[in-house]
Amino acid sequence: MCDPFLGTNYKDIFAAGDIASFFDLGTASRQRIQQWSVAESQGRIAALNMMGVMTPFVSTPWFSMRIYNKEIVKIGGDKPYCEVHMAGSWVSGKLMAYYIDKQDRVVGFASMGQAKKTAELKALLESNKMPSGTQVKQSLV
Ligand SMILES: Cc1cc2nc3c(=O)[nH]c(=O)nc-3n(C[C@H](O)[C@H](O)[C@H](O)COP(=O)(O)OP(=O)(O)OC[C@H]3O[C@@H](n4cnc5c(N)ncnc54)[C@H](O)[C@@H]3O)c2cc1C
Repeated sequence: MCDPFLGTNYKDIFAAGDIASFFDLGTASRQRIQQWSVAESQGRIAALNMMGVMTPFVSTPWFSMRIYNKEIVKIGGDKPYCEVHMAGSWVSGKLMAYYIDKQDRVVGFASMGQAKKTAELKALLESNKMPSGTQVKQSLV
């Protein structure tokens, strides 16, 4: 069990990776995310905090996999959502799924065959500049 700085209840002991249940300031909830990208970025933050920098771990989780030569990526989606808006098609090899919450915010997305768009949307999500659910439904993204 870690605090937002990945510190444990033992003095000077920090945790990172699959073992770390941390308090996520973004969702204001306790999280444990078993993904290699999270383990890697938590390791960096834990190392900084061991040196006294005291940076909270705030990260947008992402996950990618390749199935039958199709690259599928999921970014965010760790916050509650109530609707999934799909655009594109599996057959065309280009697909987007947007996770939309009750306040019309896009809290995450999954993509297939959309590397450039995925990178652009990840940057928008991480800088809180993601278009709204209404905008993605109107194909403005
Ligand atoms: C089958 C499988 C598929 C996965 N696929 C994906 C994927 O596609 N994408 C993704 O993001 N994540 C995936 N994951 C999850 C990802 O592997 C983990 O989230 C990540 O490896 C966690 O890193 P970690 O450093 O916490 O633990 P680990 O990578 O498990 O590293 C822990 C290390 O500690 C060592 N160790 C254990 N006990 C001791 C001890 N007593 N003394 C010294 N060393 C010890 C272990 O040997 C190991 O090397 C997958 C996991 C599995 C099992």
